[in-house]
Amino acid sequence: MAKGAGKARKKLPKALAVVNADNCTGCEACVEVCPVDCIYKVPGSDLATLQSFVDIDLDRCIGCDLCERWCPWDAIEMIKPTLIADAVAIKGGPPDYVLANQDKLNAAARAIQDLALEVAAAAPAKK
Ligand code: SF4
Ligand code: SF4
Repeated sequence: MAKGAGKARKKLPKALAVVNADNCTGCEACVEVCPVDCIYKVPGSDLATLQSFVDIDLDRCIGCDLCERWCPWDAIEMIKPTLIADAVAIKGGPPDYVLANQDKLNAAARAIQDLALEVAAAAPAKK
């Protein structure tokens, strides 16, 4: 779960996957297709009221877009790294899960967004 949050990446993908938890049924179609195994089923055993859904380790997502294309419920959206923190902050989920995890998920997304903004600021302006 968000292993290595905030760890510097050599290169950022053009977009990263974010799960809209309210649309996710936990069918795991996305888990099956993800080539880097960065989508995880949220464990419900310690959170009795948890609905079934998945979340994504953004530090490992390579932005391949497969999960978005395979999701039968349109629960995944590909988001530019410069906007990722805002998207993660509103992605929703069961209250127990949000309470236990949202700060950590926000911090990981913020680190990626800050890096993306740094890279964008350092890039030469296009003519
Ligand atoms: S975009 Fe690709 S790497 Fe990222 S979570 Fe989806 S399937 Fe995995
Ligand atoms: S494919 Fe879509 S609905 Fe199924 S677990 Fe993944 S995000 Fe949820």
